Amino acid sequence: MARERLYLFDTTLRDGAQTNGVDFTLADKLAIAGMLDELGIDYVEGGYPGANPTDTELFGKDQKLKATFTAFGMTRRPGRSTSNDPGLAALLDAKADAICFVAKSWDYHVKVALETTEAENLASIRDSVRAAKANGREVLLDCEHFFDGYKANPKYALACAKAAYDEGARWVVLCDTNGGALPDEVEKIVGDVVKVIPGGHVGSHAHNDTDQAVANSFAAVRAGARQIQGTLNGLGERCGNANLVSIIPTLKLKPEFADRFDIGVSDAALKKLAHVSHALDERLNRAPNRHAPYVGESAFATKAGIHASAIMKDPATYEHVAPEAVGNRRKVLVSEQAGKSNVLAELERIGLKADKDDPRIGRLLEIVKEREAIGYAYEAADASFELLARRTLGKVPDYFDVTQFDINVEQRNNAKNERVTVTMAVVKVKVGDDNMISAAEGNGPVNALDLALRKDLGKYQKYIAGLKLTDYRVRILNGGTEAVTRVLIESEDEAGERWTTVGVSPNIIDASFQALMDSIIFKLVKSNAPA
Ligand SMILES: [Zn+2]
Repeated sequence: MARERLYLFDTTLRDGAQTNGVDFTLADKLAIAGMLDELGIDYVEGGYPGANPTDTELFGKDQKLKATFTAFGMTRRPGRSTSNDPGLAALLDAKADAICFVAKSWDYHVKVALETTEAENLASIRDSVRAAKANGREVLLDCEHFFDGYKANPKYALACAKAAYDEGARWVVLCDTNGGALPDEVEKIVGDVVKVIPGGHVGSHAHNDTDQAVANSFAAVRAGARQIQGTLNGLGERCGNANLVSIIPTLKLKPEFADRFDIGVSDAALKKLAHVSHALDERLNRAPNRHAPYVGESAFATKAGIHASAIMKDPATYEHVAPEAVGNRRKVLVSEQAGKSNVLAELERIGLKADKDDPRIGRLLEIVKEREAIGYAYEAADASFELLARRTLGKVPDYFDVTQFDINVEQRNNAKNERVTVTMAVVKVKVGDDNMISAAEGNGPVNALDLALRKDLGKYQKYIAGLKLTDYRVRILNGGTEAVTRVLIESEDEAGERWTTVGVSPNIIDASFQALMDSIIFKLVKSNAPA
């Protein structure tokens, strides 16, 4: 049976830009548009030309995407003609393949927010669609508050959608603007709409205020809609928009959808999904959500020993899809509950050959348990576990030796008589027969120590040039009689690969130093640096 085409519309750069704390630069927008294009998204909504300088500049130039590059804006204002509306003029001037208008479809909003008549709102929709079509653009209409509007006055909500469709809009998009609709309501209302407007012209725009934006998107598809709007990582104001990073793999990997629909994302592009999701977080300087479906660190992580031994026999026993399909990986957590099978599975993953009866495996398990009892967390620190395993199996070179370090924190008044805290670290390192001293100033003791340590590692410097710290987390543990500090450091290399290391000590500097050292040594091992 021939599969139907389902279209994906990304609004990360427009609706996603409404996220608290997100402020895209032009460079950000161009990079993200490029990622979306490579992924195979059909429509990339870039922003709102005329509304801010970044978006105006973005739409000042043809972006030459494979995707349909879309500009967003309002229909003409009530009481104005299309030729006498500066907002509409900016939209028509934009270098975009398509224009997505937003219009009210809830009679209450027309009266209260827009302060106009129902008839004038319909005329504004028709005139705007006609003007954009006359300019040679593909046209979409976002029907704002469609579901709430439909519940209040179905006839008027439908009339708004129908006005755009009759005027030649390619898509009429039903928006759950307040995000409160539930899947059964969405399925019923979209079902009503597609009796009037063919489903091949109907789109869904869901917000996540009840944590069901993804479910609502699928409900719309089940009822006949053939375009899904959403954002990468579910970015968006309040609780976010429908998360395309969850929607795409479900469409590709679950038979209910995969057997019925084709989307623009290829199997090869799907394998890059985890990378795309993390690259966006990196750009926004956010730590990735470990528990994100499909792409999170923990999405395919198994802890209990009994599951781990089953997973080694057949991964399908505890996995709903193959992690590799979305560019993720299976992870068997090594923790205090660990059995030998977890350790063996993890060793196999990192490519360390070990016989299950090797006494060193038993010793490694003992060390893990001892160290976890005093606060180490190996299930969160994959790289520290790998180093520990390699050391126990006798395979990590002594690349360099930090013979001494010294950190000085000083608070004083500067020349402008402002109170400032200045931190400086001095590190003595021995690489082979060379003794080196490096000093660095940082915004705190750990930062200064990190900068000094990585300033000059002699012949190893080239291997760590692309290394950077992406996250630093501190926790105070009240284990025994005394509090200890656990530091987890996440690092990233030039290829975008990430790993986490751990350090534990009553002293936060010591704990950080251990985690920093593990990170650097792990990078040298990974790069096959000569001993
Ligand atoms: Zn929205």
